[in-house]
Amino acid sequence: MKCEHCTRKECSKKADEEENALVDATSPALEKEEKGEFHKLADAKIFLSACLACDRCITAEEGVRVSQQNAKDLFHVLNLNKKCDTSKHKVLAVSVCPQSLPYFAAKLNLSVTDASRRLSGFLKSLGVHYVFDTTIAADFSILESQKEFVRRYQQHSEGERALPMLTSACPGWVRYAERVLGSPITPHLCTAKSPQQIMGSLVKDYFARQQNLSPDQIFHVIVGPCYDKKLEALREDVHAGSHTSQGVDCVLTSGELLQMMEQSDLSAKDAAVDTLFGDLKEEEVQRHDGDSSDGYLAHVFRHAAKELFGEDVEKVTYRTLRNKDFQEATLEKDGQVVLRFAAAYGFRNIQNMILKLRKDKFPYHFVEVLACPGGCLHGRGQARTEDGHADKALLRQMEGIYAEIPARPPETSEHVQMLYREWLHGADPPRVQAALHTSFPSTGPAVSSLDMKW
Ligand code: SF4
Repeated sequence: MKCEHCTRKECSKKADEEENALVDATSPALEKEEKGEFHKLADAKIFLSACLACDRCITAEEGVRVSQQNAKDLFHVLNLNKKCDTSKHKVLAVSVCPQSLPYFAAKLNLSVTDASRRLSGFLKSLGVHYVFDTTIAADFSILESQKEFVRRYQQHSEGERALPMLTSACPGWVRYAERVLGSPITPHLCTAKSPQQIMGSLVKDYFARQQNLSPDQIFHVIVGPCYDKKLEALREDVHAGSHTSQGVDCVLTSGELLQMMEQSDLSAKDAAVDTLFGDLKEEEVQRHDGDSSDGYLAHVFRHAAKELFGEDVEKVTYRTLRNKDFQEATLEKDGQVVLRFAAAYGFRNIQNMILKLRKDKFPYHFVEVLACPGGCLHGRGQARTEDGHADKALLRQMEGIYAEIPARPPETSEHVQMLYREWLHGADPPRVQAALHTSFPSTGPAVSSLDMKW
């Protein structure tokens, strides 16, 4: 179904397994730019997956701005950095999502740590100054989600309708909730910023201050598993701390970056991945406790069990319900279920959740909502076949690789604790709010979700 609001020829209706459209990534504005030495590399086409925020949710202007986030955008900055006019030079920082790394590891036939070093070496050979890992940003996002859930649970017990809390780290789901579902649902969205948004704050605020740079002197690129993150970069409230600079300037999918590597004839040495802390380098890749995502459900469940009921939960036990993408975990106390959490992945499960929520027949306190069936490893910006379908064999391999990455509880990160103390002034509420939280419009839906075909 084609949307009457949408003027983009590449948009197509969402479904869990839908056609992808081949889109020319060329930006007319960039076409006019002088062609630099990287032009050959950048002159590539990308498969634009039918992201969850297309059709009804995206305006023509947003469509243009999304299509401008491509390799040429990066090469444009790289080429400006080689010109004499230093006023146009930028410090280039690239932050890579952990859910992208199994894709590179599988495609390059390397361990995840070696794959991340290969990526870092390639990007630095192009002229990128810093390559970061977004896991530290996910630490903050999970910790803030945990605190918010406990607060909402307590308010709920006092009679306020603060539950269920729905996660908000997936931009495909959030865009849909904001633009299609509107105010009946958006109050349920967790206000903790997503890892991508928090990485924007860390790079354009904390890191910029450390380097004596203004946020505008940094060009910040995210490498992630899906196209929806390009839309997320357009969110107006993605400010870096008190600055108004955009936290993320460009998003490249893992597939786009791999294509750049494959088309490159540059010989690059592997290079260590940077941290936000001076000369300190990342030693090994770590992840959070989720099968194919940052594991919000498991982390919030354990925290809530301890904080609210004094229970230590070593391992969260899941029960598969309608399908493998709809699971639940419960905590019982004195024969009563006191915590009932769910994971709902893919829009069919999300639709079912929304229908039950509207009928007040949804018994969950917390739901980890992800737009992609299978979670973030299955994002449409990686592991696709040439005809745009999911590469199932590759995805199975990536799931195995992801499972082998050591998981780190966010509470154990000394850097995160230091940043709460120093960057956020001892977790000062206004600072925490500006850097780590967002808000959602309290308006009604832009379109009726009843018109949506699923
Ligand atoms: S679930 Fe899919 S759309 Fe959502 S953040 Fe993960 S990869 Fe992107």
